[in-house]
Amino acid sequence: MNNGIMILVEHLKDAIADITFEMLGISRKLADSLGVPLKALLIGKDIYKYLSELGIADEVYVLEDEKLEMASPDTMADIIKSIYESKGISIVIIGGTNTTAGIGPILSSKLKLPFHNFCKNIRTDGDSIIITNQLFGGKILSDVKLDGKKGILSVNPGSFPADAGKATKVVPIEEIDLTGIEVKNYFNKYIEPEAGDVDITKENILVSVGRGLENADNLGMAEDLIGVIGGAISASRPVIDQGWLPLSRQVGKSGMIVKPKLYFALGISGAPEHVEGMKDSDCIVAINKDPAAPIFNVAHYGVCGDLLEIVPALTEKLKVKKG
Ligand SMILES: Cc1cc2nc3c(=O)[nH]c(=O)nc-3n(C[C@H](O)[C@H](O)[C@H](O)COP(=O)(O)OP(=O)(O)OC[C@H]3O[C@@H](n4cnc5c(N)ncnc54)[C@H](O)[C@@H]3O)c2cc1C
Repeated sequence: MNNGIMILVEHLKDAIADITFEMLGISRKLADSLGVPLKALLIGKDIYKYLSELGIADEVYVLEDEKLEMASPDTMADIIKSIYESKGISIVIIGGTNTTAGIGPILSSKLKLPFHNFCKNIRTDGDSIIITNQLFGGKILSDVKLDGKKGILSVNPGSFPADAGKATKVVPIEEIDLTGIEVKNYFNKYIEPEAGDVDITKENILVSVGRGLENADNLGMAEDLIGVIGGAISASRPVIDQGWLPLSRQVGKSGMIVKPKLYFALGISGAPEHVEGMKDSDCIVAINKDPAAPIFNVAHYGVCGDLLEIVPALTEKLKVKKG
């Protein structure tokens, strides 16, 4: 281990993404326990405004160029490779999000280093670095020793507290230029998705249904519950893929990020891609017949049982209670 750990700052549409602070927090801990510096790499257009939020790092490498607004994973990997080699970095940490997910495998093949995806924890054990990977949609966790203490890690969003990575302090910067890097693709424009019938990000109550609902005819029981408690229906991806509900109702990595006051997860397993979109809800109630379903790890209240029996019974009870 020589020149330490480097995280890739993720930002989109004028804001630093939470995953950046998650990575900064856990990397700070790791860097301190290994006695190495923590570097942040900030790439893009109009990015100097972000520097004041990166106070947890020891130094920020800044590469500003308008050609790098939403640079392609291949270009990003070329840039990271060049800094990794010239600065003697040992571990690169990136976010496991849609924005940066493509970078890890390309970088791994360019640097001939192991790529550890879906990291849920990173810790030291004596002289070793141990990474916990989340596999099979969260059903299995595996502990892996980072060989030679070198590699590329991709962090699962929501795995670490973002607050631990927040500090407003002026840190030294080093400006990096694009010399030797070929930018192969250019960002053109953002295309906003078409507005849906209901904006699920604005609802206080969401009744979300998953594959456990079995078929579209059973949507009626979720609608009945909404008829009593209010709110709107949302869903996991398989429900959308099967055309039971429109895309505007999808919660998760490739859907919407929601933070309602109350989130019902009915027959949803709790795969990381879904949890990413609803984990910050104030109160999560999960109904699932599998006691080992990962959704119970994020739920505040859980009912282990058949939703096809429980949901109609719950609706009836609530109806009576409301008079
Ligand atoms: C790049 C990428 C992006 C993705 N984006 C998203 C996304 O945005 N949103 C998303 O949701 N997923 C997304 N996914 C898919 C995700 O990985 C999961 O496959 C998906 O979330 C699973 O949906 P589910 O929980 O409804 O289905 P399953 O995982 O099949 O779970 C169904 C659950 O229902 C339970 N169940 C079955 N019958 C009953 C019953 N009668 N009563 C109670 N419980 C019952 C089962 O025990 C099970 O836990 C993405 C995947 C990838 C690779």
